[in-house]
Amino acid sequence: MRIDQIEKLLTDLFPTCRSITGNGVRDTLNYLRKSVDFQIHEIPSGTSCFDWTVPPEWNVHEAFIEDASGKRLVDFKSNNLHIVSYSAPVDGTFSYEEIIPHIHTLPELPEAIPYRTSYYKQQWGFCVSHQSFSQWKKNDRFRVVIRSDLNPKGSLTLGEAFLPGESSREFLFTTYCCHPSMANDNLSGVITWTLLLKKLSQMPRKYSYRFAIFPETIGALAFLKTFQGSLENIMGGYVITNVGGPGPIGYKKTYLENHFVDRIAKRALNKLHPQFTSYPFDAAGSDERQFSSPGFHIPMGSVTKDKYYEYLYYHTSLDNLDFVKPQNINTSFKTYEKIIQEIESSVFYKNLSPFGEPMLSKRGLYPTLSGHVNQKAAQDHISKQIDAINWLMFLGDGHHTLTDVSEKTGLPMEFVEEVFDLLQKNTLLKKVL
Ligand code: ZN
Repeated sequence: MRIDQIEKLLTDLFPTCRSITGNGVRDTLNYLRKSVDFQIHEIPSGTSCFDWTVPPEWNVHEAFIEDASGKRLVDFKSNNLHIVSYSAPVDGTFSYEEIIPHIHTLPELPEAIPYRTSYYKQQWGFCVSHQSFSQWKKNDRFRVVIRSDLNPKGSLTLGEAFLPGESSREFLFTTYCCHPSMANDNLSGVITWTLLLKKLSQMPRKYSYRFAIFPETIGALAFLKTFQGSLENIMGGYVITNVGGPGPIGYKKTYLENHFVDRIAKRALNKLHPQFTSYPFDAAGSDERQFSSPGFHIPMGSVTKDKYYEYLYYHTSLDNLDFVKPQNINTSFKTYEKIIQEIESSVFYKNLSPFGEPMLSKRGLYPTLSGHVNQKAAQDHISKQIDAINWLMFLGDGHHTLTDVSEKTGLPMEFVEEVFDLLQKNTLLKKVL
């Protein structure tokens, strides 16, 4: 059933020409809203978003190159990767030498059309497979037509949904929707994001969640700008991207590398895919670059299946529906679903005596029996109890859970819970939402 849903989303959304603004993004978000509820926000061109400005809205109607005999060598209609995204309009005839600077090919992958963009420098260009470009005649004349508009009165489209839970503690799930016909980067992310939002909307929630979908970089900044005043409860989250390839499952850590969202992801992955590849944080990457910048410091991790930069077909026409299969996306969906289950089952707690260590002996909690107890088992029990007490108190900053203490100490969860109850009775710890 879910596989069919994924299949339909893939086939319906793959052909759309998306960019950082324009009808492709708008149509994609409106299509998704047929099956899941979120708000659409239009951010006008010219709006400043921190150090950036929303560019004019770009839409393309027609683009092709013909040789002197009128034969079409490239047509945007046959593949929307053929045009450099944000190409300015052009209508003219050019020599081979004149056209060369505007043609992009990938000699190392001769059958692939590369993906190129030029959002902030006005120019025009075409992307062609090296194979077909090598057949163009050097003494030919080339008619080039791009009918596109760059509308300064347009807007950038983004989607957002807030799902309140019992706790105001909030987790952010984002994805980007600015790529044209490529399946792993990033239609797979769009689909996984949609299915997760649908799933969470329909279930009772202990924690709160915010879902956002926007064009990469400028859209993330536009989202941060628009919601700047309402993000203080966000603990961290995940950028859902590149989750549909046939390759291995991986996890890119947040900039803190061992934050709650990292520990949760590791826990989920260890249960489902213990052989997962672990990637350290890198300041290059996706929208974690914006969220984790010093002004926001929101830790964002990413589960990936064929991570960007790591697969041969990255940013080419070969990242298509032969490469990405619904089953792969389903595997990633189930991993994120597990992450949500892990979040929902988390029990946060707080140290009520956080200024130095509490004096355990005056509460009768410090075992003073060491000289008297000879049985090894009893001693073991005491040292484990002290270990659990120390870590429970130490990690009681409100951002750790009982599972964290169990993992840190290697003590079974039931034992940690028992010691927690003891400390709770002594008003040293309490559960918090
Ligand atoms: Zn990309």
